[in-house]
Amino acid sequence: MRGVVMHAPGDVRVEDVEEPQILKPTDAIIRLSATCICGSDLWPYRGADHLSGPLHMGHEYAGIVEEIGAGVSLIRPGQFVVGSFFASDNTCEICRAGYHTSCIHREVLGTSGAAQAERMRVPLADGTLVATPDAPSDVLIPSYLAASDVLGTGWFGAVAAEAGPGKTVAVVGDGAVGLLAVLAAKQLGAERIIAMSRHQPRQQLALEFGATDIVAERGDEGVAKIKDLTDGLGAHSVVEAVGTQESMMQAIRSTRPGGHVGFVGVLHGVELRGDDIFMTHVHLHGGPAPVRRFLPQLMDLIRNRTIDPGRVFDLALPLDQAAEGYRAMDERRAIKVLLRP
Ligand SMILES: [Zn+2]
Repeated sequence: MRGVVMHAPGDVRVEDVEEPQILKPTDAIIRLSATCICGSDLWPYRGADHLSGPLHMGHEYAGIVEEIGAGVSLIRPGQFVVGSFFASDNTCEICRAGYHTSCIHREVLGTSGAAQAERMRVPLADGTLVATPDAPSDVLIPSYLAASDVLGTGWFGAVAAEAGPGKTVAVVGDGAVGLLAVLAAKQLGAERIIAMSRHQPRQQLALEFGATDIVAERGDEGVAKIKDLTDGLGAHSVVEAVGTQESMMQAIRSTRPGGHVGFVGVLHGVELRGDDIFMTHVHLHGGPAPVRRFLPQLMDLIRNRTIDPGRVFDLALPLDQAAEGYRAMDERRAIKVLLRP
């Protein structure tokens, strides 16, 4: 079958790779209906992550179950399913508390099953996968695919930031996760949603997802603008969806005392000094989003067409053109690229 392999920074190829196999009784094999390129795939692509060898890419997936191991009882062949980028058992004490990405049995997808391919192996299938009650219409597939990571991650960012009725929510970052954090804040009932973005097409999508204000400034000026919009206090809730030192500090400094930062951008080289945090009275909560916690709810919202998160995909390519997809995202010509196997 065909699969995407990164050989070195900037060197992505689609080549013949081994068919996935059931390795454990709890595994399932799915045939991808669609997959996509993640903002986090750009870290190794740009050389920010060390590559120890060829890397099979992809951790966002939606597709049809083809085969299950002998120990799988809840998921059946033929079902359309969505799962998250970490496999989880959904039964351990950490999962039951809603932190599936720290499941005591978690497995990282992409290492044990790469999604930018025709088929993939999903470990812990009963805990990891959520099935739709019927086969979805083709037009909903991009939205279900978004639920696999970027929607679930933006949603967790908004929940971790305690977005809700009466709150002013600011979102740092205008990638797919940031834009979907705007959508999440709107669904969670936020009163005012400030999207921080300098890019016109992304500003437009943020407004369509529910943003009430756009702030194009960054750093000190961005913080000053948020304070201007909030009686000098700062936002109640700030979602950090980038992962750099500048964006993290911008998020913390844009938050009012007693407010919450939900940080979901994968952190790279961020150092926080105790002195910078102690005086702020800001709550920090984040990490790899426990998408599985939210999947049943998000998939229902997609199925009944309350939300349309698939709109973040502004470029769709055949899997064989994945290299062009990586270039388009790297050069910010595309917000997010969907790949059709
Ligand atoms: Zn668990």
